[in-house]
Amino acid sequence: MIDPRKILHDVFGFPSFREGQEEIVRAVLAGEDVLAIMPTGAGKSLCYQLPTLAREGLTVVVSPLIALMRDQVAALRHFGIEAGSLNSANDPAENRRVVDAVREKRMRILYASPERLANTGTTEWLARSGVNLLAIDEAHCVSQWGHDFRPEYAMLGEVRQRLGNVQTIALTATADVATRSDIMHRLFEEEPRLFIHGFDRPNLRLAMQAKEHSRRQLFSFLDKHRHESGIVYCSSRDATERLADSLSQAGYRALPYHAGMHQQDRAKNQDIFLQEDGVVMVATVAFGMGIDKPDVRFVAHAALPKSIEAYYQEIGRAGRDGAPADTLTLYGLDDMRLRRLQIEESDAADEQKRVERQRLNALVALCEAPRCRRQTLLAYFGETTEPCGNCDLCIDGVMSFDGTIEAQKILSAIVRTGERFGTEHLISILVGEETDSIRRFGHDKLKTFGVGNDRSKTEWRSLLRQIYAAGLISLELAEYGRWTLTDRGVAVLKGQERIELRSDVLMKPAERRRRRGRMEAEAIVPSDDPLLLDLKALRTRLAKEEGVPAYVIFSDRSLI
Ligand code: ADP
Ligand code: MG
Repeated sequence: MIDPRKILHDVFGFPSFREGQEEIVRAVLAGEDVLAIMPTGAGKSLCYQLPTLAREGLTVVVSPLIALMRDQVAALRHFGIEAGSLNSANDPAENRRVVDAVREKRMRILYASPERLANTGTTEWLARSGVNLLAIDEAHCVSQWGHDFRPEYAMLGEVRQRLGNVQTIALTATADVATRSDIMHRLFEEEPRLFIHGFDRPNLRLAMQAKEHSRRQLFSFLDKHRHESGIVYCSSRDATERLADSLSQAGYRALPYHAGMHQQDRAKNQDIFLQEDGVVMVATVAFGMGIDKPDVRFVAHAALPKSIEAYYQEIGRAGRDGAPADTLTLYGLDDMRLRRLQIEESDAADEQKRVERQRLNALVALCEAPRCRRQTLLAYFGETTEPCGNCDLCIDGVMSFDGTIEAQKILSAIVRTGERFGTEHLISILVGEETDSIRRFGHDKLKTFGVGNDRSKTEWRSLLRQIYAAGLISLELAEYGRWTLTDRGVAVLKGQERIELRSDVLMKPAERRRRRGRMEAEAIVPSDDPLLLDLKALRTRLAKEEGVPAYVIFSDRSLI
């Protein structure tokens, strides 16, 4: 066997492996079956091409697109590697070249469409010629949960057997758990080695905020990014038009983009965004596929994205050049309900809907994450990291409290009203607000009526979102949205389980800053610390000599 590093230098001309590549190459060379999950552009092809060259024999690569095969074959031949493809677009001369090279055992890497391999004649011929490795590119096509399901891909498990149970490596950029387990059981008889790499984009700052004054929140984010290129995603065509207008009035160069626009206008706006600096594209999810603009400096979501995958992909359009880029996602209970409704009303099969619900729940949990957002996000993709220091939760810190009593108040309001009501009705009960419908149902007579009048409605909305994200309640959507208890919700209501909730999100921003300042001062400056004595002296001097207004430091809970 030739040293993989030598091939990397001598054949491909790369100075080093990218993250994850070497381990995968070594696993393949050790004869293991592999499932490799890496984002687009991470360098998955090398993971089967290099092992092929390090040993003898033929590798057959399954690829879903003729254009992809052509590019890869051209690139390999450019490196001096005997490669070819079998697909419906080949001319007879090309077919002959391929057949001869396979017969004479010169062919090293052969690309084939899944349709070609579904043909038993082809697989028998290949099996006779001897295949060493089967590489299945874009392997998510085997899964009906992906958006690219291809029935022929579902046959590949059988193809693998017809090729003599040949060693197999499957590669994809789609990481979510449902798709992954589908790939595993359709392609492999025994569990393959699983590699997940490169999903972290450390240059992206992650931040999510519950909508309070959504317009103000969005504008203050955009204000930090004047004259930079960025994308703002909205949930409807109307919303993109309206927001693009108000941003233009506020002096931004903002353009709308959605599928309802004339093709020409859309193409024009896209060109302006790509070619000019400092354009804000206000778009629906129709925008972004295949857009490769390296210096997008920010991505904002004016509303909750569709799923955690969609979120990751959409923010991933920022900072492709590796320089710092900023993101902000705004969300509210209304968005969560809307997204659920979209799932329930789609004509997908039940099992598909179940998966979509899970993906939405994962996103909701990310919105209300109690610790480093990047850790939570990457954990979803199967990667682990240290707290990142580049997300709102790491930067601002998180404060939590034992929220069992608060949770019980909400849970009990839900139970006492027969699990038949939505957010606003329940919150009216908690704060003791006598609306028409409260009176109509006689809910002002409930024991829970007004038990939460020590908190504002905004706080209760946040608490409700948090217990939803923690899996204590679930949203049922028959004719309208209503909350019901999960098993965990029942356990908390009965006092069998306790729950930690975040308290910082319940405070007003000014209060949050004040509390945080206080925590820091407490943490770093004990009252007899020389630094503090210096500060005391400084303050006295400033106040006396310069007439600077007094400022305050908190230490040991005392004012100075
Ligand atoms: P993927 O299939 O994961 O989207 P590709 O295999 O198409 O990615 O590779 C993307 C690009 O990265 C290609 O141009 C490839 O030549 C290049 N590349 C792959 N590995 C390396 C490496 N170790 N060093 C430098 N460039 C690499
Ligand atoms: Mg690829």
